Amino acid sequence: MGQPSEKAVGPLRIPFDEHRIDVNQISACASRIITTLHQSGYEAYVVGGAVRDLLLGFVPKDFDVVTDATPEEVRRVFRNSRIIGRRFRLVHVYCGRDMVEVSTFRAPHEVSNSKDRKGRLLRDNTFGSISEDAIRRDFTVNALFYDPRSEEVLDFCGGYADTQKNLLRIIGAPVQRYREDPVRMLRAVRLSEKLGLTIDPKTRSPFKKQARLLEGVPTARLYDEFIKVVKSGSLASAVEKIVTYGFQSALFGKLEKIKEQSREGDFLRLVYEKTDDRINSGKSVSPAFLFAAVFWPEVDRKWNYVESDPKYMGALVRAIDEASDSLSQTFVPKRLIADIRDIWYLQGRLLNRRGKKPAQALRHGKFRAGYDFLELRGIVGEVPQELVDWWTQFQEIEPEARESWLEHNNKLGATEPKKRVRRRPRKKRNTTEASSSQ
Ligand code: ATP
Ligand code: MG
Repeated sequence: MGQPSEKAVGPLRIPFDEHRIDVNQISACASRIITTLHQSGYEAYVVGGAVRDLLLGFVPKDFDVVTDATPEEVRRVFRNSRIIGRRFRLVHVYCGRDMVEVSTFRAPHEVSNSKDRKGRLLRDNTFGSISEDAIRRDFTVNALFYDPRSEEVLDFCGGYADTQKNLLRIIGAPVQRYREDPVRMLRAVRLSEKLGLTIDPKTRSPFKKQARLLEGVPTARLYDEFIKVVKSGSLASAVEKIVTYGFQSALFGKLEKIKEQSREGDFLRLVYEKTDDRINSGKSVSPAFLFAAVFWPEVDRKWNYVESDPKYMGALVRAIDEASDSLSQTFVPKRLIADIRDIWYLQGRLLNRRGKKPAQALRHGKFRAGYDFLELRGIVGEVPQELVDWWTQFQEIEPEARESWLEHNNKLGATEPKKRVRRRPRKKRNTTEASSSQ
């Protein structure tokens, strides 16, 4: 922990006059819990993301509380609480429908001595002092404690100065900290994009070289972190960083790198931007839709180049099967794969505007997602806008009027499947694949 500011010594105490956090910005539930813990003779603070967000002028998502009381002691103080977690035992304390996580000061891993041979943390549950709890955290700005009683911010790692400089800086020796937990590198990207922080050069410089550490992280954890990136509302810029630092192969497996100046690139950018728009206006996003998009260029490429099957649906199904295989090697949960396949499959079904097919497609459980997907493909010119408009109108038609509508529209020539199945020049394809794979 080379720098003096990162040593576990007495904290810098920043008074209200300087930090200007209004005590009323702390959630009523967290305030009550802290007061009750004080009255029971324990220390207690707001910690982590909430203090950071308040100092940076953001509204905190939630308020975490940290204390010197053990989980059992916290449990005894609050009737409406329960102990959870195996790796970290902490307490969920409820105030009506509100819930606050209360954790006990933990010592860093050097003290708890529970790393595997690669330096990864196995167990991280040894209780410690407040200063030890500060230095086991990931970034200096995440290691600040707020005391609502004195209205002071306690700073053991120089995090307060970093909030003033909009700087995201890892605590301790960067490579060692990434070996202990490679997800910290993804957290750096997410937090810096979400909060507009610059990643400190020393924090950032090992990323490319250490990116492969992410391959050893359980896929469920990578997925959770990626979903946090999605929900941050900065997906488009975060994905750019993920690619720049070489984190994407741990996430997306052998998925080919998409060229910047390409229709595939335009399509993905559009999907990421639309996702950000939805999140930033308080709407939900569907992970299946998003992953259908991320892996779509692979399906589409295969679909276009299937050699032997002149029927476009057969070709599409084969492309979907191949892409599902590679998808199942990634961090995308298996439970999403059926929905993802449906969205892909509908891209073929929606090409057929003959007879009963359109009405059948409309009844498909994933029609809406398939149609939304087609619309995005239309925007980047992957399918004719006329096809998208046709479906936009067809949905509006009353069921009993559909037949005559179809008859009229079919006369206008909007019936033929547009997908062309091209023959793939075998040699050329092999070289293309070799040169564009990661
Ligand atoms: P968000 O606003 O997205 O919730 P956060 O910083 O609060 O951001 P959490 O995952 O809620 O993120 O973590 C709470 C706190 O726990 C962090 O602020 C940090 O102090 C600590 N922490 C989280 N993940 C790690 C990690 N991988 N290594 C060390 N400390 C961590
Ligand atoms: Mg948090």
